[in-house]
Amino acid sequence: MTNQKKSKNGKVTTLSKEKSSSSKEILEVRKKHFLPTATLYYKEPIQLTKAKGNYVYDENGNEFLDAIGGIVCNSAGHNHPKIQEALIEMIKNDEIQHTTTLYLNHHITDLAKKIISEAPNGIDRCSFTNSGSEANELAFMAARHATGETMIVNLKHGYHGGTSGALASCGQHTWKFRAQPTASVTSAAAPYCYRCPFNKTPENCHLECAKDVETTIQTSTHGKIAAFIAEPVMGIGGVIAPPNEYFPEVTKIVHNYGGKYISDEVQTGAGRCGKNFLLTKTLKIDADIVTMAKGFGNGAAIGGILMKTEIAEPLKGKLYFNTFGGDPYQTMQALKTMEIIEEENMLENAFEMGNLLKQGLTNLMKKYELIGDIRGRGLLIGMELVKNRKTKEPAAQECVELMELCKDKGLLIGKGGLFGNTIRIAPALTINKKQIESIIEIIDKSLSMLS
Ligand code: PMP
Repeated sequence: MTNQKKSKNGKVTTLSKEKSSSSKEILEVRKKHFLPTATLYYKEPIQLTKAKGNYVYDENGNEFLDAIGGIVCNSAGHNHPKIQEALIEMIKNDEIQHTTTLYLNHHITDLAKKIISEAPNGIDRCSFTNSGSEANELAFMAARHATGETMIVNLKHGYHGGTSGALASCGQHTWKFRAQPTASVTSAAAPYCYRCPFNKTPENCHLECAKDVETTIQTSTHGKIAAFIAEPVMGIGGVIAPPNEYFPEVTKIVHNYGGKYISDEVQTGAGRCGKNFLLTKTLKIDADIVTMAKGFGNGAAIGGILMKTEIAEPLKGKLYFNTFGGDPYQTMQALKTMEIIEEENMLENAFEMGNLLKQGLTNLMKKYELIGDIRGRGLLIGMELVKNRKTKEPAAQECVELMELCKDKGLLIGKGGLFGNTIRIAPALTINKKQIESIIEIIDKSLSMLS
């Protein structure tokens, strides 16, 4: 059984009322063979088979405006023609797919030059990995090696990856496993203004959360630390965006106690927050190490780590080897992504469109009591849903329903937060005004159906 649908951009697609057998098969294989840790979005999960720019398509040709980008990975737009051309060229020229840092290759050094040119002051060393988790593991190792200390201070509600060390620094129970080793880490209060752990409001805030980093060091370490790790906007934690003043205060504390400041830009990097390629630079955070992944490769599996020479130098004489880290195809895609972001003025666009989106969603707060808070920077936006604005009881089920309703109207968004009640929106940096209006309109319509 089929029917026709005219999508927002005028494209007519044929819809199948029945779930295609291939989706059924995929679900069966997943159910039978996948680890149960692999969860799915939507009651009827969708199979995405094609993508272009800000749109993705399922196997029946249904079009969705992609406002989450896999999971915050689509920075320059899906299948950007310049990246496609460069990939085709490499394949046609039989360019080596895999080589390692044991040999010379210009793709990795081209990327190194470019990323260092975008790094905050004082950062001039880099390395590449396959993922954000690996980049953070290397960051912990380098900071511990340089300081001779072991203790890592992280933030409650934070997320830094699924590998052992990164998971030890995860501030959310859902991601942790029974008997998860958490040695040599300790957690400070999250700079979560909407649910301030110190019951403060912006009017009477004295950066108690920043000061808690010092209290944490004083009360749960021997008085010296290897590093402090934080995301400049805490993505998985529910797009928690600390106030600007938080960062200099914390940096000072971390450095006073001998630690290195690790800025985890796995979500915020690649221009997502506008103005600069790295939010660490925009916020003038005196970070010693910056890690990246996700949008860095525009979907290619690449992570990166940047650090100051003083942290890199002590690593001399040790070996860090990552078989696929920095492969030519991956590094080429990351470099092209950076060039495209620059050439097509996406940093400005991310900033402007982010503000527009935030404003539009903030306006919806007048209509819908369900929206407790709108926050974020650039194109990394969170909308926290609550059952009651006074009690702030999390509205997790409503969050799931809102995602379903938006999907039915052709919009893909994400969710996160400790309570699973924060909608996450992170479209490609190419998003335009019309598409932003469409996101707001669909969310508005969907919220009206929920109320
Ligand atoms: N840091 C942050 C802030 C992240 O959001 C993530 C992934 N969600 C990671 C690290 C881990 O990255 P990956 O999944 O590529 O290992």
